[in-house]
Amino acid sequence: MTLSLHPLIDGGIVKGEANFAGGTLYCHCPSDKVAVSLKSNVAHNHACGCSKCWKPHGALFSIVGVVPRDSLSVIANGSKLVVVDKTAAIQRHACTDCGVHLYGRIEKDHPFKGLDFVHAELSDSKGWQEPQFAAFVSSIIEQGFDPRRMDDVRAKFKQLGLETYDALSPPLMDLIAVFTAKKAGIHFSES
Ligand SMILES: [Zn+2]
Ligand SMILES: [Zn+2]
Repeated sequence: MTLSLHPLIDGGIVKGEANFAGGTLYCHCPSDKVAVSLKSNVAHNHACGCSKCWKPHGALFSIVGVVPRDSLSVIANGSKLVVVDKTAAIQRHACTDCGVHLYGRIEKDHPFKGLDFVHAELSDSKGWQEPQFAAFVSSIIEQGFDPRRMDDVRAKFKQLGLETYDALSPPLMDLIAVFTAKKAGIHFSES
């Protein structure tokens, strides 16, 4: 049985452009599309196996990255957006008609506050940062994936050149830990 991680990476990874300046994301509605303008490239772009991120039909993983909150603006049909789960740390704004998530925003005190989570595949432009790693890989089991096939999933990511993690990548986990340590009153020297 062939394995589809995500249509964007199944056939290999296409590198992004270093100086790519952003583009417009569109929902999947045939007309009256919600449009979101991004004035920067995505960062920390990755495949995510969690159950909350939006995935295209048939994909095991989502592809999600972050942009600074100031670089994002809703430019058309924003009235169709609704927050999927108001209790979640990331408030995912989805189109009520097609279900696509246009962006996720953090309003509460959180290590990633100030960054919006977006799916660059919703844009027609080319040059977005390519996926850098795979996160929350084991979480696909919670959504019904056969645990006996996990070696195949991890092997396929390795073959694509992506490291697999069952949380976020080490730099992002470190960022969360620094936030938590600072909250606990720990000071780190600047040098
Ligand atoms: Zn839509
Ligand atoms: Zn996710």
